[in-house]
Amino acid sequence: MSRPFDTLSRPLDTLSRPTDTLSHPFDMLSRPTDTLCRLSDTLSKHSDTLSHAFDTLSHASDTLSQSFPKLNLTIPPSPCLLPQTPANSMSQAHAYAAQSPTTDLAPWTLERRPVGPHDVQIDIHYCGVCHSDLHQIRNEWFPGIFPMVPGHEIVGRITQVGDHVRNFKVGELAGVGCLVDSCQECANCEADLEQYCLDGNTQTYNNLDRQGRPTYGGYSTSIVVREEFVLHVSDKLNLAAVAPLLCAGITTYSPLRHWNIGPGHKVAVVGLGGLGHMAVKFAVAFGAEVTVLSTSPSKEADAKALGAHHFVATSDKDQTKAVRGSFDFILDTVSAEHDMNMYLSLLKTDGSLVLVGVPTEPLKVQPFSIIGGRKTLAGSSIGGIKETQEMLDFCAEHNITSDIELIDIKDVTAAYERMVKGDVRYRFVIDIATLK
Ligand code: NAP
Ligand code: ZN
Repeated sequence: MSRPFDTLSRPLDTLSRPTDTLSHPFDMLSRPTDTLCRLSDTLSKHSDTLSHAFDTLSHASDTLSQSFPKLNLTIPPSPCLLPQTPANSMSQAHAYAAQSPTTDLAPWTLERRPVGPHDVQIDIHYCGVCHSDLHQIRNEWFPGIFPMVPGHEIVGRITQVGDHVRNFKVGELAGVGCLVDSCQECANCEADLEQYCLDGNTQTYNNLDRQGRPTYGGYSTSIVVREEFVLHVSDKLNLAAVAPLLCAGITTYSPLRHWNIGPGHKVAVVGLGGLGHMAVKFAVAFGAEVTVLSTSPSKEADAKALGAHHFVATSDKDQTKAVRGSFDFILDTVSAEHDMNMYLSLLKTDGSLVLVGVPTEPLKVQPFSIIGGRKTLAGSSIGGIKETQEMLDFCAEHNITSDIELIDIKDVTAAYERMVKGDVRYRFVIDIATLK
């Protein structure tokens, strides 16, 4: 990639040299169409770089034309790289958006970008409701980008693919999670850890894409995403119940895999909500002995039905005391402030507590809570695209989906209110047909 870009930037360097050395850039610039169209094939994966190259060439052309008006140089407009077919026009999507952190979600219309050569357009059928959606529309983590269309647990059917798309076909089922782009070049992207992209990944909503445009999520009728960030979805599973796998699923699967959880491990899952119930299903599927630590005693029967071996009502001090020092691994999915020191006390020596929940306040951790017993307090963010596909394939093979309540889009604010009270059984999923 660096070689063609170097070639394109060379004319500019050369501009500072005496006129007689300009013959080489003149040659280059007199064949811009050939050069660029050849480059477009090699570089179409790197459209940012290309548009930058176009700017550079146009700038060089302007400068040269001003200095040597007789040259009459013409640089073709950058859209020559993306033939103007109907596939390339913007499309409208119906959506639900928060106009500010203090307003409820309400109908809104947005424009999806044209389908580029490496893009996939998806007609969204279902979108899960993650607690992160609520944190973000209320600015609980950081100031958001408004209007905001949340939703990063997206499943639907492909309606259009770009000319260079190889792995997806029109008519297939597809999914999109929390990521829609990353640099794809840094050490973390190279290691299939796009969630930790060193250049900053592009999140599905409440983020700016690599061209500086706001991203809008899955509480909408369609989405356009580059193919590297689209997932294959099995048609064997209930599609609505697959949606939450795109965030709740991968966020719990990834740390359980990273910490090699399996037979012989005593695992506790803190919080039986969207993430928590998926954590129970995966930890059980991986062969661990699983305990749910919950503030809601009424969830005990559900926890057992999900496969948990034990249930601890954390409001009961005797019950928590009885499991002190007993877990190898605790996955903490709690969305609000809670007593980290108490949960750390439940780990064995050398045990690990991995935080995936993102409470809005800083954690209050006593140093002795981890020093005593050489304990590890760690965190984990969603999962990379390769691992997300692995998780979806694992779910298809083992018939794992989320336990959901399918809701109409107009009931999303009521669903948020129930979510804040911990009353989710166990993931709300929006039927996007109610938005069309
Ligand atoms: P959720 O469905 O609302 O579940 C959270 C559960 O935490 C509740 O059901 C409740 O379970 C428990 N809980 C709530 N308040 C509590 C409190 N004060 N003390 C103890 N337990 C409490 O939320 P979710 O969608 O699973 O998301 C959970 C958190 O993970 C959110 O903060 C979300 O933003 C974050 N998240 C992180 C990632 C990541 O990549 N790391 C990805 C997605 C989401 P019980 O009734 O059983 O106590
Ligand atoms: Zn989420």
